[in-house]
Parts: sequence; C-alpha cells; structure tokens
Amino acid sequence: MNHERSRELYDRALSVAPGGVNSSVRAIQPYPFFVEKGDGGHVIDADGNRYLDFVMGYGPLLLGHDLPEQVQSAIQQRAAEGPMYGAPTEVEVELAEFVARHVPSVEMVRFVNSGTEATVSAVRLARGYTGRDKIVIMQGSYHGAQESTLVEGEGTHTSPSSPGIPESFAEHTITVPFNDEEYVEAVFEEHGDEIAAVLTEPILGNHGIVHPVEGYHDTLRDLCDDYGSLLIFDEVITGFRVGGPQCAQGKFGIEPDVTTFGKIVGGGFPVGAIGGRSEIIEQFTPAGEVFQSGTFSGHPVTMAAGLETLRYAAENDVWAQVNDLGAQMREGLTDIVANRAPEYTVVGSDSMFKVIFTRDGASGENHCGSGCRQRESCPSYDACPKNGADVDRAETERWERLFWPAMKEEGVFLTPNQFESQFVSAAHTEEDIEEALEAYKEAL
Ligand code: PMP
Repeated sequence: MNHERSRELYDRALSVAPGGVNSSVRAIQPYPFFVEKGDGGHVIDADGNRYLDFVMGYGPLLLGHDLPEQVQSAIQQRAAEGPMYGAPTEVEVELAEFVARHVPSVEMVRFVNSGTEATVSAVRLARGYTGRDKIVIMQGSYHGAQESTLVEGEGTHTSPSSPGIPESFAEHTITVPFNDEEYVEAVFEEHGDEIAAVLTEPILGNHGIVHPVEGYHDTLRDLCDDYGSLLIFDEVITGFRVGGPQCAQGKFGIEPDVTTFGKIVGGGFPVGAIGGRSEIIEQFTPAGEVFQSGTFSGHPVTMAAGLETLRYAAENDVWAQVNDLGAQMREGLTDIVANRAPEYTVVGSDSMFKVIFTRDGASGENHCGSGCRQRESCPSYDACPKNGADVDRAETERWERLFWPAMKEEGVFLTPNQFESQFVSAAHTEEDIEEALEAYKEAL
C-alpha cells in the first residue's frame, strides 16, 4: 500500500497541531492514514487505499458512512436553514422525547456537546443533588477528558493521571475494581455517607470490553439506595448500541438514577446528554441550582442527525441486523483464536467486539465470545476478563504488530488502541465480516 500523501499530511500536521492530531488516540505510529472519505462500511484514505472500517468514528456511526436518505436530507435541511440560533427548536424536544420514551430510567434529558461534557455535568449534578463530594469509579473505565475521573491508583489512594490536574480532584475520587462486590461494599461501609455517586460504564468499553458479572450492577444499585448515593451509568458507548433503543440498562434490567450519553445519540455529530428522573435532572439550571449551560448544546443539525438515525434504526430493525453481524464476527474470531492463539480472549456483545491479547487472570475453558454474564450457565465464564487489571496483562507488542503491519496492510481498520472496543455497523455485510475474519486468520 502506498501511504505517500498521508505521510506528507502528517508532516504538515506535526508543525501546526500537537502530535499532529486533535484527539490523542489518532496518532498511530509511525503515522496515521488521513481519511479522504467514508463509503458504507469502508473508509478511503488520502492515497486512495480502501479499508474495512471497524472503528466507525469510535462508535457514533451505527449506520456506517452512507447515511440513509431520510437522515441525510434532515441534516442538509437543518444546515441550509442556518446552522444554529441560540434559541430552542422543536427537534431538541423530539429527540429528548425519543430518548425518554425508550430508555427505561430516563424522564428528562439535557443535551450537551460531547461525552466528556456529559460526564462532567453528571458528576456536578450528583454532587449538587446529594451535597456530597466523593465519587466511586471503576479501574479501567474511561469517562472522557475530565478532572474528576482522570485518576490512577486504588481505593482512596488515588492521584491525577495527567499533569495539570490538582491533587485535590483525585482526593474526591475512589477507584474500585470492576466486578468486585466485596471491594465496593467495603468502600461504602467506610465512606458511604460521603459518596455522591457511583459512576460506571455498564460494560467497560475502553479497556478490553469487560462484561459485568451477574449481580454486580444490582449490588451497585442496592448500595446506592442504602446510602443515598446516585448510580450513574455512562452509556456514551453502550447507549443505543447495546440493548438496542433501551440501551445497556434495558438489557441488564437495571435503572440507574442518571445516564450519560454521547456518540450514537448525535448521529455522527458532536453530542453528549445527561438523562434521568425529572426530580434529579431538574436540579440543572434554570429549573434548579446546579449550573449547566452551552452555546452549542442541543445544536439543531446534531439533533436532526440523532433523531433521524434513531428513527431509522427503530423502523428498520437495525439493532437486530448489527447484532447478528457482531455475533458472526465474535463466533468467527472465537474459532480462529482457539486454533491460532488460544492464549487470547474474544470479548464483546451486540455490535461490539475485540480480541484481547491475554487470558491471564482467566482460567477454565476457552473464551467468552458471547458477552455472557451468567455465572452458572456459561461454560467459559472463568475465562472472561473481570476487571481492568486482568486486561492490563495483555501483550502490547504483539497487538501492535497485528494492528499495523498485519491488519492495516490487509485493508482492515481497527481501533489502534489495544483496549478500545471495535464496532460493526449496518453498512457492513456478511461478506465484510468474512473478509475481516480472513485477515485476522492471516495476521494471527
Ligand atoms: N464516556 C465513555 C464511556 C466513553 O467511551 C467516552 C469516549 N470514548 C467518553 C465518555 C467521552 O466522550 P467524548 O470523547 O465524546 O468526550
């Protein structure tokens, strides 16, 4: 493959943009390819190379790159009528109604402009609502580029994971291992009265894809109820992907107090949202006292893209379609891995998938390709990674060789970060999955 033009563009970018990119994960070594355009389930780079795309914008593109006519025309019409006004529009109400109608725990929604903004606002809301400062998060979770969750360390021994964040932020953040009921119970016993919220992804999607074991979220729900803390589900990745329009909370049968959204809910445009029971969401200004505001929030073009994407998905069985493709991919990978790399683990559910380059910390039969979380009935239950630490032991060097020289040269674009989820979209076909599986087979 020729990458001449991407190299040139990266050289130019390096002199005007830090690291040559606008989001850290895009700085693939030795250089990223620059995208010319999307085409269904593919992207085409500046040198004309075509890749099967399983990054899908890091999750927002449920429908792939070719938006259906109804979505495209809604976006174009909004853009043609002046992109935004600084005054409310009907389409914001319609999208909020769609979300409230489908997501079990949501009665009201505040739209913002990114997943980060959503989790920042949700944490502030929880602190304002409860009058407490501490939050509990999971080791290996990601909630965006925000001060309160960019922490490392364990339990109450946390410190900021980036320069530029005052120590005092980390003082209020307690980290716990995902899926460890005893650990979080002990944290609540000691600090329960100071905890404003437990903030968790329902499935860790940024660190290997880690599924909750049966009962874990129920434990979090019960602890929050017992101690008067809020349970916040960060559904920025899982929202309108896992569990279809009911999201992961619908799939798992858990009602969080607050949910954060991003990605799919904006149909490929910048978005975030905070939803929940009215009594809580109405603490946001101007209904309540917790300050929240934004020039671009509820942007009409974004709202139109999100609304028409979700309507289209609901009307056309898109979730069933992408979930079938996801299952085909995970089953195929499970066979390939069993054959060629039995030390690795296939993870994911619905339209999410990943191969993790470890089975360390795992025992028992092969791997969990099904997203199953049943302790009793799943034969490979023991082989699933249960928390961030299980995933941390992955073989980074071998992943790097698989990712760049092998898969990319085969024309398959995977998330460059070893641990971030990959996605199938409605634009992919069964043939695309077969092609990707062939590439994995060669590469592994
Ligand atoms: N929460 C989760 C679970 C995420 O996966 C992400 C981004 N991948 C964010 C929050 C932050 O979203 P954004 O990048 O839109 O700020």
